[in-house]
Amino acid sequence: MTRKNPVMRICIACRKTYDRKNLIKITKDHKQGILLQKGMGRSAYICKSKKCYSDSKIKKKLQKALKTSLKPEFIDIFEKEITSYNNNPNKGI
Ligand SMILES: [Zn+2]
Repeated sequence: MTRKNPVMRICIACRKTYDRKNLIKITKDHKQGILLQKGMGRSAYICKSKKCYSDSKIKKKLQKALKTSLKPEFIDIFEKEITSYNNNPNKGI
């Protein structure tokens, strides 16, 4: 088996480059709205460090990256999702 080069993406909070597998993908899906780890459309990536996903400016950064406005409850859902991904590293990734 040959090892593929990892797909690298930049975390929108800390601007560091990570392997795609180690990032949470937030997508503005054309039909379903904002989705985590799935969907088709404009995407932004964020690493799983608490410093990044609980960044007070993260909503603004996401809105800018996704060119959309996010509902106030989005951040709650988002934090919950990331916490669950961190607790179950194999789930959904
Ligand atoms: Zn980060």
